Amino acid sequence: MRDNTYLKAFEKLEKIPRVKLAFLPTPLQKLERISQLYGVEMYMKRDDLTGIEFGGNKTRKLEFTLPEAVKNKAKYLVTGAAFQSNWCRQTIACGNRLGMKTVLFLYGPEIPQKYKGNLLLDKVMGAEIHLNKLQQGESIPKAMQRTKENVNERIKELEEKDGECYYIEVGAPFPRGHVAYVYAVGELVRQLEEKGMMLNYFDYIVTAIGTGGTYTGLLVGKKLFNSTVKIYGFSAGFMPIETLKKRILKGAEETAEFLKVTMPFSKEDIYISEDYVGKGYDVPSKEEVGAIKQIAQKEAVFLDPVYTGKAMAGLLDFIKIDRIPKGSKVLFWHTGGLPALFSGEEITGSIYGL
Ligand SMILES: *Cc1c(COP(=O)(O)O)cnc(C)c1O
Repeated sequence: MRDNTYLKAFEKLEKIPRVKLAFLPTPLQKLERISQLYGVEMYMKRDDLTGIEFGGNKTRKLEFTLPEAVKNKAKYLVTGAAFQSNWCRQTIACGNRLGMKTVLFLYGPEIPQKYKGNLLLDKVMGAEIHLNKLQQGESIPKAMQRTKENVNERIKELEEKDGECYYIEVGAPFPRGHVAYVYAVGELVRQLEEKGMMLNYFDYIVTAIGTGGTYTGLLVGKKLFNSTVKIYGFSAGFMPIETLKKRILKGAEETAEFLKVTMPFSKEDIYISEDYVGKGYDVPSKEEVGAIKQIAQKEAVFLDPVYTGKAMAGLLDFIKIDRIPKGSKVLFWHTGGLPALFSGEEITGSIYGL
């Protein structure tokens, strides 16, 4: 079953510098009851179980981003994002394993009065945390721009006094980050081979989308392994869909270049939807809450209320409205994010209708 294309692809992927931090391969689980209920064959790739604390897709990205920090003998990792960022929590965890301290610049509309969810874990893991309040109508990227001087100043201070800092942009939105999910496709190919299956067994791979890095990696990965599987992405609403499409296309081209492979990409390769965002990324919709409850009740698997809940709501609806036909074979890629279940009011008992 394994032809020359596969061998070459694996060879390329194994040459990329990587620090091993996650528990890999993550499990591939068949969702028996959901499959039966919806008339499809549904599997789940459990990247919520990567094992860098409470798991998630960022751990894979960090495995490929951090070799440079190690090479630079960095003493500090510096990054920034939203108060409840999964990226920041996984960065600290990886940093702690590598003996590096993490400095976080976090942003949100109101300074939190209590440590909850990811922010609580960040604190327990010992990160240096700088909390920043957004100005009226200001986005997080804008606020990061506004506070850039503070970040640079802190970096300068630490470097003069103590040691090298390594700054990483949230989500590692560059080829060395994207390549993590190309590698993950390779991992899936191997896992399927053990079961006597091929990647083309699946008609669809479904993932949540934030900045599009994971989707980008999966798209390059499926082409690298010569598969016709369609990659469907459901946006959590961080970016307008046209921006996402452009980012994915550019990211895929750059990642192919990074891997020194020639493969054509076009807008027709990209299937993404923003129809399940609801009121916003941090406000779960009724459909999303329904999906979270149904998967928990039928399969005892938890989805998160920011990303994977929306993606699952989209997937289940696509099946209902026949955009994904009955009998299809679907792989849902669980990208993690579980601490958000314990992060705030909007996902307490009342919204779950308990
Ligand atoms: C960050 C994140 C995503 C989005 O990943 P991108 O590569 O930015 O699209 C999806 N799910 C979870 C749980 C995340 O933390």
